[in-house]
Amino acid sequence: MNYLSPDKLITETIGEELEHLSENQLIDLITKYKNGNNVENLLKEFNINVRSTMLVRSFPLVRVGKCPNCPADLGCSIANKTSKELLNQRKEECWNCGHKSYISNCQCSTCLFDKEQERIQAETNMQAELKRKKEAINREFCIENYNKVDEHSLTLKEKISICTILRCCLSEDGKYIKPIKTSIEPVTSHQDLTTQMIKHLIAREILIPSVESDINAFVFDETNILSSYYTYEVKYILNIQPTDKFSLLIERLLYLAIDIDQGVEVLLSIWKDLAFYEVLSYFLYQMNDVGYQPNIGEVTKSTFIKLLENFSVGQVFNIVLRAVSNSTRAYQSGEYTKKHAMNMVVASCRNQGEKAIAENWDLKAYNRIKQLPESELSKLLFTAILKKPYMAFNMAPTFDNLLNLNAK
Ligand SMILES: [Zn+2]
Ligand SMILES: [Zn+2]
Repeated sequence: MNYLSPDKLITETIGEELEHLSENQLIDLITKYKNGNNVENLLKEFNINVRSTMLVRSFPLVRVGKCPNCPADLGCSIANKTSKELLNQRKEECWNCGHKSYISNCQCSTCLFDKEQERIQAETNMQAELKRKKEAINREFCIENYNKVDEHSLTLKEKISICTILRCCLSEDGKYIKPIKTSIEPVTSHQDLTTQMIKHLIAREILIPSVESDINAFVFDETNILSSYYTYEVKYILNIQPTDKFSLLIERLLYLAIDIDQGVEVLLSIWKDLAFYEVLSYFLYQMNDVGYQPNIGEVTKSTFIKLLENFSVGQVFNIVLRAVSNSTRAYQSGEYTKKHAMNMVVASCRNQGEKAIAENWDLKAYNRIKQLPESELSKLLFTAILKKPYMAFNMAPTFDNLLNLNAK
């Protein structure tokens, strides 16, 4: 036990039960207490009126340093007699202001004040950073920086893309396009196709990210320089110069008047894209459903493109589902490893397609599944433009079929 000298006692903290004792008597009492003397005897010897278990709490704090927050001293209490240590080390506290340096969340007035100052400073810094970011966004995407795209220069494909996006995401007041990710309907039959569509419109400066977007939709690098933005999370402004009023432009873009004969090539290419991605989404869904994680490479893509030259999307669904079930059966029978069985699916689709043609199968078209509802682009093309909503899912996306559709 360390030696305790009278000048180490913080006399202001002596319990009132011990006030009649001199400093030397206190030292004597504490020393005897710590040496294990019988407490009841000590109470009698020093004429102290307190319960024996409470004696240790009446002892004064022992000075161990200066309080960082006020002119008083930090002290530690005397440890219980069962402890070999004289003091409750690492529990320094200020008897005057109540500062406790051993807890991180000290509630003394100075610490509370400091914390409040820190909070205000952090808030101020955050506001300043927010302001800097907003200024950077304004500099980059201020709509005045961009030349408006002339309405006459829009291609048919662009009009169909814009129409699809407006139908999904145009704000109620028609002034901006809500973030694409908020669309309730799938925009197209696959995110890759939607991304291609948006990226084209951005590259053409038909869509400009709105400076009113959520700030978190923009990406800033470590030095707070605006580096990019999330295509699906920003709002967009439609940067088109109408031939007359903007509201009429919106109406024309929402309800496209298309001469189908003039646009056959374009409509066919959109149909092919839609159909391909429809099949791809279905393929991925069925594969994932049985626990396969396929890589989509050129072989898979060209297999589906080839199948769609002869079969409708619904028929290819049939082929895909059959190929997936055959594969899982082969895997479950123990004949093949899971990976091998998974890799058989695409080849099986190809073989089935070739057999179906060679043997003239009457291949039943499957329906959509509820997990993959019809996309907005599909509704636009088949219901609004071609006016044959259900046949399209049941016909191969070919030039002849498109001409026939149109003729009927
Ligand atoms: Zn203090
Ligand atoms: Zn404190």
